[in-house]
Amino acid sequence: MEHIVIIGNGISGVTLARHIRKRSDAKISIISAETNYFFSRTALMYVFMGHMKFEHTQPYENDFWKKNNINLIHKKVSEVFPKEKSLLLDGNTVITFDKLVIATGSKPNKFGWPGQDLEGVTGLYFKQDLENLEKWAPTTKRAVIVGGGLIGIELAEMMRARNIEVTFLVREDSFWNGVLPKGESQMINRHIKEHHIDLRLSTGLKEIIADENGRTKAIITDKDETIECQIVGLTAGVSPNIDFLKTSGIELGRGVKVNRFLETNFKDIYAIGDCAEQHEGIGERRPIEAVWYTGRMMGESLAQTLTGNPMEYKPGHWFNSAKFLDIEYQTYGWVWAKEKENETHFYWEHKGGKKAIRIAFDTESRRFLGINTFGIRMRHEFFDKVLTDQQSVDYVIENLAAANFDPEFYTSHKKEIQIEFTKQCVGLKNESL
Ligand SMILES: Cc1cc2nc3c(=O)[nH]c(=O)nc-3n(C[C@H](O)[C@H](O)[C@H](O)COP(=O)(O)OP(=O)(O)OC[C@H]3O[C@@H](n4cnc5c(N)ncnc54)[C@H](O)[C@@H]3O)c2cc1C
Repeated sequence: MEHIVIIGNGISGVTLARHIRKRSDAKISIISAETNYFFSRTALMYVFMGHMKFEHTQPYENDFWKKNNINLIHKKVSEVFPKEKSLLLDGNTVITFDKLVIATGSKPNKFGWPGQDLEGVTGLYFKQDLENLEKWAPTTKRAVIVGGGLIGIELAEMMRARNIEVTFLVREDSFWNGVLPKGESQMINRHIKEHHIDLRLSTGLKEIIADENGRTKAIITDKDETIECQIVGLTAGVSPNIDFLKTSGIELGRGVKVNRFLETNFKDIYAIGDCAEQHEGIGERRPIEAVWYTGRMMGESLAQTLTGNPMEYKPGHWFNSAKFLDIEYQTYGWVWAKEKENETHFYWEHKGGKKAIRIAFDTESRRFLGINTFGIRMRHEFFDKVLTDQQSVDYVIENLAAANFDPEFYTSHKKEIQIEFTKQCVGLKNESL
């Protein structure tokens, strides 16, 4: 019987295993160094904040895997030998495969800062990071978080939930401004400060200093300021967790290079999820997509391919969602931080400064290109259809009520949004001609 081995039990690996099992009796093994059972990484913060127990992050009962005849191996893969079709586990056990799928996810970036491996320094990625934070939190007065993205702000929220003071170092001059346009980025700067987080923009980390026991006691910024702290959170992005493949001969870039069928340069060896890198990004997408739903989609597509129905990975329209403290953020289609030449952006921000909408559209044709929403929940299906149907921005504005989960919000702000839209964007085409 064919043996399919999956390295990594994150969302991409387990989705793949479940979907293969629906379609085939192949022998399936999932190997993970982190935990026995799959858990939702995105929920780690809620465990720390006491909203749920760790068990609640595990969507499947522990006996689910046995019942579905999926073999779980709790070990680290130290090396892969593509030609021999074998793997080395924990440096001492060899197993063989017919097909191999690398689904090893990401790891937090470390940029060689002095002191980056001290006790008290952690990323927020693995279950072990959560355990360390639990251990250190009771004796921590201040945490310094380095890197202003989605994970950094989650860590800041976690620390504040335990009344730990937070200094947040953001290298850019405004929060996440490589992704968020100016209006939204500045709104989030203000929101962070209102949550009593000491936000330091245009500031980086130079060094982490140890006390006499080798534990973190302070950091020094690139402006030579010393800040006392007991925890340092390294959240300056993630990169594919693929160091163990360096000698394998599998083609690597930043991630594991794959084609549209998610296959590597070796037949029968594939990569999915955060660690996979397309030779060329699909449409406007980046070659590496480190998000939850794309990992799931790659798992679903590859399950088809591995069970006799070759299927290209076609992710459809881009969307994403996150939370900046208590402001929910959603994005559909493409809204770039800076308008491209052919684009116009419409931006509306509620006077309370906690809700905003930005819509990008093609200036000539008025085709809707994408939307960012803050503090307002929109319906995925609506925007998926609007993007597929290539509707105009005017259609979207007219139908925003249908897109909105919160009818009350829309009733009270509809007029204001429409007036603002007319002011900013109607008649634009004629003016620009
Ligand atoms: C705190 C946090 C919040 C997030 N929030 C969001 C969000 O709101 N929305 C969103 O879209 N995305 C979010 N993400 C990103 C999302 O969680 C990832 O995109 C997703 O988990 C990647 O899944 P994966 O299956 O590719 O890999 P992973 O989940 O990283 O799983 C890979 C597994 O492989 C194991 N492994 C690695 N190397 C080896 C080896 N050599 N041997 C054995 N096992 C190995 C790892 O230990 C890990 O368990 C968040 C991530 C974090 C950390």
